[in-house]
Amino acid sequence: MRTLVTGGAGYIGSHLVDALLGLGHDVTVLDDLSTGSRSNIGRHVDAGAIDFVEGSILDPDLVDQYVSTSELVFHLAAAVGVKFIVDEPLASLLTNTRGTEIVLGSCHANGVRVLLASTSEVYGKTSKVPFEEDDDRVLGPTTIHRWGYSTAKAFDEHLALAYADKGLEVSIVRYFNSYGPRLDPRGYGSVVANFIRQSIAGEPITVHGDGRQTRCFTYVDDTVAGTVAAGITDAAMGRVINLGTTEETAIGDLAATIRDMIGSSSDISYAPYEDYYGSGFEDTRRRVPEIGRASSLLQWEPKVRLREGLERTIAWWRETHG
Ligand code: UDP
Repeated sequence: MRTLVTGGAGYIGSHLVDALLGLGHDVTVLDDLSTGSRSNIGRHVDAGAIDFVEGSILDPDLVDQYVSTSELVFHLAAAVGVKFIVDEPLASLLTNTRGTEIVLGSCHANGVRVLLASTSEVYGKTSKVPFEEDDDRVLGPTTIHRWGYSTAKAFDEHLALAYADKGLEVSIVRYFNSYGPRLDPRGYGSVVANFIRQSIAGEPITVHGDGRQTRCFTYVDDTVAGTVAAGITDAAMGRVINLGTTEETAIGDLAATIRDMIGSSSDISYAPYEDYYGSGFEDTRRRVPEIGRASSLLQWEPKVRLREGLERTIAWWRETHG
């Protein structure tokens, strides 16, 4: 199929491109290289295996040009990473709302099926664990920038479902803390990148708060397998689907695991959230998906355990960053 991947030069997007090429798709990538990188897809570009368009989802004519010649769209382009959102709230909000509006509107106008990549951040700080797709969302006040990301992505989901009522074939996946090779070494979007970088450099590993907050770290191959399945499965249309492992890990334990796997002598330091995110920050205490829907609709289940995924990620890191 002729397939467009917005955000295809990003960390998850580029793995998605690999998978789609493996399945024989004819792939075009639209990416503004804000957090993505040409090197993530460079070998495909050089080999002429994909079309790469450097441009923004905020450009309606450009988006329409490429959507109209596609049969399937994976919309992953977004401002991502809590730290990035907190540092750049305005640009993040505009990209994540206007950009998605443009992509979905074009898909609707052209009758093209689309997958929307969303996030477990949508659940906010709810304490009901595990998170089911139809659960209530629990957010803090608008004065806390972090919740703008959750709000923008939830707006995107509303928009997608409203277009679905008007006939758009759209599926929505919510990612849970994806990690793996090609993580941005600056740490945007992942504590895993920060901890690997700090461990290898022998710097203190910076755990925020008491380190007992938990996440379900999902290896990128699993994230991508679920994304492809949700994009091509008819039964996924009009549905919201969690994609995450149920292996729950405390951040303090993650720090110790990564440090030991790397054989680092780094100290593990505990510091208030505010030292990193600035004043007025709220975190999600436990984030765990219920994945029965992905299992029944997509026959999807995560395959890579944390240790194995970290081994692969650390091996990649050493090869590319020393
Ligand atoms: N975190 C941390 N040290 C870091 C970066 C993040 O302790 O250097 C914590 C962060 O406060 C959160 C968890 O790790 O509790 C996951 O953060 P990340 O930004 O990876 O993703 P999130 O789950 O917040 O979207």
